[in-house]
Amino acid sequence: MGKMDWVEEEVRVLKETGRYIPIRTLQTSQGAWVKIDGRKLLNLCSNNYLGLANNPEVKKAMHEAIDIYGVGAGAVRSIAGTMELHIKLEEKIAQFKHMESSLVYQGGLLANLGTIPALVGKEDLVFSEELNHASIIDGVRLSSAKRVVFSHNSAADLEAKLKAERSTGKKSLIVTDGVFSMDGDIAPLKEEAEVGEKYESMIYVDDAHGEGILGDHGRGIVDHFKLTGKVDIEMGTFSKAVGVMGGFVAGRKELIDYLKQKARPFLFSSALNPGEVAAIMKSIEIMDRDDSLLKKLWNNSEFLKEKLRNIGYNTGRSKTPITPVMVGGEKETIDLSKTLYEEGVFASPIVFPTVAKGAARIRLMPSAVHSREDLKYAGDKFEEVGKKLKLI
Ligand SMILES: *Cc1c(COP(=O)(O)O)cnc(C)c1O
Repeated sequence: MGKMDWVEEEVRVLKETGRYIPIRTLQTSQGAWVKIDGRKLLNLCSNNYLGLANNPEVKKAMHEAIDIYGVGAGAVRSIAGTMELHIKLEEKIAQFKHMESSLVYQGGLLANLGTIPALVGKEDLVFSEELNHASIIDGVRLSSAKRVVFSHNSAADLEAKLKAERSTGKKSLIVTDGVFSMDGDIAPLKEEAEVGEKYESMIYVDDAHGEGILGDHGRGIVDHFKLTGKVDIEMGTFSKAVGVMGGFVAGRKELIDYLKQKARPFLFSSALNPGEVAAIMKSIEIMDRDDSLLKKLWNNSEFLKEKLRNIGYNTGRSKTPITPVMVGGEKETIDLSKTLYEEGVFASPIVFPTVAKGAARIRLMPSAVHSREDLKYAGDKFEEVGKKLKLI
């Protein structure tokens, strides 16, 4: 036995238990349709909500920034990697989100990994939502704070947990996803913020799937619930609706100053490239000046949900464009996804352990770049394949 043989064994187990994820390779840019294995497929899997990943204006902004600033930032932010573009972007985010200040990271995952451990430590408490994203869970682990999990979408359970656990002298942080990525439902942030206020607990929202989707011009969940000033830390990503790469946190000025001294991805990992920074800025500018893409996204998602419901599918508890098609069984879900794929519809199966056993589903991500015809095509294929597999 070689000392690395365990790797093969692990992979074999993943394959045997149906948990091995096949990685599809795109041969085109992101868009309504993509090419995979030489075949054209309707793309209902990407997070490119507004189509900005391949927007001509955004691409141009990136090209221009590369001509002026080069392709790399050349250093970590705290040494020589902070360019004037980074500062401008941070000002723009703060302005867009009606927050005092913001800090840009190289990704959303890094924003969570970097910020949470800077806010709480060994002596402190974190109240973490049951369905939080993996990057929050890992951020909480890195902090070494005591973790208390509260029930999904339950401000009442959050209050009960705070009441039981919160003792004086310690710092406390409530952390939750804003929009839950597998179900598309929205956290009751207003009630949770009130509980946070009552028990002197900071509140942190990860708005990765709310950015560009909720609120006026896509300002996000805090704007959606009119909670400006009531949420201490807003975290977001630039890789979903914004269409590029990177992440951020926004909050009061002192907090951002502090994070620049403490957050490890800021201190120990090189800065976001100037081209990316310029592209992000352009995407936000587009969102800010015109909400027609946002409206199209919502119209498209309403249309798709209604179509699926009329055919006889259950689209779960989604309140956002994220469209789960609830199937239940793991095998049925994987069969449905495979057959749709053969029929030209790229739609990802979500199974255990990403969701609970028996809650397997296909998750559809409609976007502003899909046409009505595209979505009709998806609906027709779901009908045809669903009948064939006796799911509807
Ligand atoms: C996608 C996602 C992230 C990670 O963002 P990246 O910018 O892709 O690293 C973090 N939190 C949530 C809730 C997400 O959905």
